[in-house]
Amino acid sequence: MKSIVCLIATTLASLAFSVQAEEKALNLYSARHYQTDEALYANFTKQTGIRINRIEGKEDELLERIRNEGGNSPADIFLTVDAARLAKAHELGLFAPVSSKTLDARVPANLRTDDWYSFSTRARVIVYNKAEIKPAEVQNYDDLANPRLKGKVCSRSGSHPYNLSLLASIIAHEGEAKAEAWAKGVVTNFARAPKGGDSDQIKAVAAGECGVALSNTYYVARLLRSTKPEDQKAMEKVGVIWPNQATTGTHINVSGGGMLKTAPHKEAAVKFLEYLASDDAQRYFADGNNEWPVVDSVKVVNPALDALGKFKPDNLPVKNLAMYQVKAQMIYDRAGYK
Ligand code: FE
Repeated sequence: MKSIVCLIATTLASLAFSVQAEEKALNLYSARHYQTDEALYANFTKQTGIRINRIEGKEDELLERIRNEGGNSPADIFLTVDAARLAKAHELGLFAPVSSKTLDARVPANLRTDDWYSFSTRARVIVYNKAEIKPAEVQNYDDLANPRLKGKVCSRSGSHPYNLSLLASIIAHEGEAKAEAWAKGVVTNFARAPKGGDSDQIKAVAAGECGVALSNTYYVARLLRSTKPEDQKAMEKVGVIWPNQATTGTHINVSGGGMLKTAPHKEAAVKFLEYLASDDAQRYFADGNNEWPVVDSVKVVNPALDALGKFKPDNLPVKNLAMYQVKAQMIYDRAGYK
């Protein structure tokens, strides 16, 4: 009896699933959840009639969930942050290649791969304590490894995707030996063992616990735009540098996504990716997290980011960042960059 009930339940479930697959719907697994997202998704439904079912979660958990669901995953699109995580989804064979003239025309070649696309960019900048460090001392990522900064560098974990992608870019530009020497130099300069997120590093710099640290630009922008008096006070003490302006440019990371190989709604999925590259969607996408659009012609007005001034970005293809993730982790491990 029990097995018949099970059978009926399974049949009903698969019926419901196939009905859902034919419906105009899109299942989005997203590690993003910002204020502007409501408008971002509502506009897509308005334009296409395709309803969006959103599953939101932490980046690594969502990836794990898609893996566990395997061939039965209802996920059509996976959106996440950082080239390292997008590269991981690619390595696991989760993404399907997409062929779209719209995406190829709108997303710059260095910001897309065969099966995933970037939709916004962020930069990894140097933040320093203005009372303690002269800006001339911290113009390049290399400076963080300079012995004159001994005991002055704070960092989040070397295993974190942001730091993995930065080291991947150093490997791509300068080779493994130099990347390892850099990682070792930074470890020697640590003010404390790595802990916390980027905002914690900025606050530690402001508090004088360390002289210098790295942060993604949106954390800087968030604190600059904060109305809390303690954040405003902290930011008065902190200077921000665009690193490597005379050489390779400031390291750029991305948020982005792709269509899953097992997507039940492939046509809707491609439409959605194309929508994310449209002018309006680009604005919402970037604004939600104080980032920049990937489409060149789209401009956003963000007073905090604008206040940091113009800079030369590193145009290294995101594909190359993806390629060196494993090597980057091995180098950090050898360097004791925990
Ligand atoms: Fe972040």
